[in-house]
Amino acid sequence: MASIRNKNLLKRTARVYLNDLNTGKSQVVRQFLCQCHDVMQYFVDLFWQRKDFSGKLASLPTVHRAKDKFGITTRLSQALAKQAGECVRSQHKKDRKRKPQLRWHTVTLFYHFVTIEPFKGNGFDWCVKLIGSGAPKLDIPLKSTKMINQRLKDGWQLSKTIRMGLREGRLWIDFIFEKERRPLKTEGKIVGMDSNYKNGVVFSDFQVVGETIYPRIQGFKKRQKNTHAEIKSMLGHALKSVDWSSIQVLSIEDLKKVKHGKRGTFSRVFNRRLSHWLYRTLVQLLERKCEEEGIQLVVKDPFKTSQFCSCCNRWDRRNRKGDRFKCVHCGYQSHADHNAAHNLELLGAAGVYGLRFYLSSKRQSFG
Ligand SMILES: [Zn+2]
Repeated sequence: MASIRNKNLLKRTARVYLNDLNTGKSQVVRQFLCQCHDVMQYFVDLFWQRKDFSGKLASLPTVHRAKDKFGITTRLSQALAKQAGECVRSQHKKDRKRKPQLRWHTVTLFYHFVTIEPFKGNGFDWCVKLIGSGAPKLDIPLKSTKMINQRLKDGWQLSKTIRMGLREGRLWIDFIFEKERRPLKTEGKIVGMDSNYKNGVVFSDFQVVGETIYPRIQGFKKRQKNTHAEIKSMLGHALKSVDWSSIQVLSIEDLKKVKHGKRGTFSRVFNRRLSHWLYRTLVQLLERKCEEEGIQLVVKDPFKTSQFCSCCNRWDRRNRKGDRFKCVHCGYQSHADHNAAHNLELLGAAGVYGLRFYLSSKRQSFG
């Protein structure tokens, strides 16, 4: 069960729903997933009870317990023990340490259990073959997706491992793609990013994207479904239109320190929650983008960035009024988000010391 966690390897997934699978095969896959779920929950319970949060490979006697209890192969038992171990380990790292209940049926299948080949014939593009070793023997024909084709076109390698699962009644398979991490850029600009969604995603090099997201959110009806998925996809699109070529360091606000309500324009509780979700999603997308582009992402405490004048380097809480920034000391005016993005750029340049130290070391005064 060699699984090398290689930090220089980037991983992405692309999900395919098995809508075209015939009933008989679908039944077999569902049964297999249910079995895997039960075995994994058994291991989760066992590790939790033993207070084994190491995520290390289970011993052979432990593996054999599930093998005998559930009548599965040693290899499958081993694979499921490993996933359960990782689940327990990551749960134990969280603040609320409660024993995980596996809600979703998801299993990672290594090359012992599965192969992926181009489909021979018409109507499909891929053939995922379950090849035994504890998994059933079964061919699953699949149509390719835009995402899969795009990843391959962008030079990602298809991994021999897949994930398979059942969610809300639908079977799916995740293809996993890998790529060597490119080294961090050695030259380019430090750029800050700020966003409150009313104005989109604002970069201090004057790029602005995603201005259509806020109007779209306002158009959502109460209880409308799939709004999160739609916004996420809009964010993804928006980031695609950013020119990353000259950016070496991207400086953003630390999500944990973004105050409730600071994101500004959302008044009701639901909207505030949505805006937090948005920011988190945006940060996740940015992290991935930066990884792929070799851009260093730095996360800064946003303390006072919106009230700090990037022209005369003074702080004053009177400087910000809604969307406008106007410095009460020097009269400098700009859009509040541009000013905040610029301050984040300064924070990026200030490195670990933070803005106050950086600027005071430049012998500036503060209001
Ligand atoms: Zn000023």
